Amino acid sequence: MIVLKFGGTSVGSAENIKKATTIVNSYSSSKIIVLSAVSGTTNTLTEVNKLLADSKKSNAIDLINALELNYHQLIKELFSSKKYQLEALLFIQTKFEELRLYTDASYQNEKIILAQGEIISTHLFQIYQNELGNTSLLISALDFMSIDIYKEANTKSIKNKLTSILSDNNHIKTFITQGYICTNHKDEIDNLKRGGSDYSASLIGAAIEAKEIQIWTDIDGIHNNDPRFVENTFSINEMSFDEAAELAYFGAKILHPQSIIPAQKNNIPVLLKNTFNPNDIGTIIKNCAPSSGVRAVAAKDKIIAIKIKSYRMLMAYGFLKKIFEVFEKYQTSIDMITTSEIAVSLTIDHPKYLDNITQELKTFGKVEVDKQMSIVCLAGNFSQSGKGISASVINCLKNIPIRMISYGGSNYNMSLLIASEDKVKALNLLNDGLF
Ligand code: ASP
Ligand code: MG
Repeated sequence: MIVLKFGGTSVGSAENIKKATTIVNSYSSSKIIVLSAVSGTTNTLTEVNKLLADSKKSNAIDLINALELNYHQLIKELFSSKKYQLEALLFIQTKFEELRLYTDASYQNEKIILAQGEIISTHLFQIYQNELGNTSLLISALDFMSIDIYKEANTKSIKNKLTSILSDNNHIKTFITQGYICTNHKDEIDNLKRGGSDYSASLIGAAIEAKEIQIWTDIDGIHNNDPRFVENTFSINEMSFDEAAELAYFGAKILHPQSIIPAQKNNIPVLLKNTFNPNDIGTIIKNCAPSSGVRAVAAKDKIIAIKIKSYRMLMAYGFLKKIFEVFEKYQTSIDMITTSEIAVSLTIDHPKYLDNITQELKTFGKVEVDKQMSIVCLAGNFSQSGKGISASVINCLKNIPIRMISYGGSNYNMSLLIASEDKVKALNLLNDGLF
């Protein structure tokens, strides 16, 4: 069996749903199709929740109504027969009636509202398969996908439930299900966080021991550099799980960072492909021999650097532990860290508890905060033929002030912290010097 996951743009219009269908049908093997919400829908539903939280119910209803009209248009363009068009319209009507009802108690319904995007896209997709005469079965992710009290995926339960659903329906070759949505430890509707459909696909692939997990998006796989800022980038045909994991977090938006883990643990290749250019071979992420040198560069913005300087750190033990405890207390994960004998610098990627954190850190020493920073991440193999690679990286950036360097944490990554205003220049300099 294989897993094919289509992102928001791949199901974002009638034309694109048709493209995705052609791709699905080009694979004769048994498969599970995992869908995101139609692009823009989750954003709109998030907006609806915000309005409800601000007691702006009528504005929320306006947004819902406008969204409903988009679906009417999509349905008109997607279906050619009156019968299926009507079935789809009825479905949409019922769903949007429900959505309007959920606005009555926003605080309880936030997650239910967010879940509707994937529920809608998968239903429309299935009705379309019916119109085409393609046999498929829609299975609800809420029947098998779940997270525990720590919001971690219940991999055992997912496997048991999903395999039993599949074996009950072993005459079916094409299953359709929702990405992103799941149930939590209280059996309520929940989700795997924004962009979580990739993670769903990977968890599903692992659960059924799929031959391959395919992630269909709107770019030709992972590029060696960010095509938005650098000209003449190229896609990388093959990457190891470790290299991809480093890149996925640091800005290479193409894949949800967590989604590497289930695939890697179960040694299932992940193929990244472009729905709008299916002939491009894309990127395959798998267990492969380490490459040499730098494979790809990506950058992550909105990074905050915090420096704590204290003479108490000199030759003392337990100092870092105390610092880390502050971040743990405020549930803020640290991305980069560098230390000297009397100071430690680290980075975080969201400011939610920044004030509390700096306040508490001040009890250990002098605290400095730099905002608007970017992490430039280089993924590749720095272990083998590592000689000279770091030197050439730094040489490329000789005219750009570097705030932090992290090297040696893994063999597959080198990260540099620079001011965001230098990012585009840095990406281009690295492109010219390294590729
Ligand atoms: N629809 C969700 C989002 O926009 C999940 C996903 O597309 O991966 O975040
Ligand atoms: Mg996505």
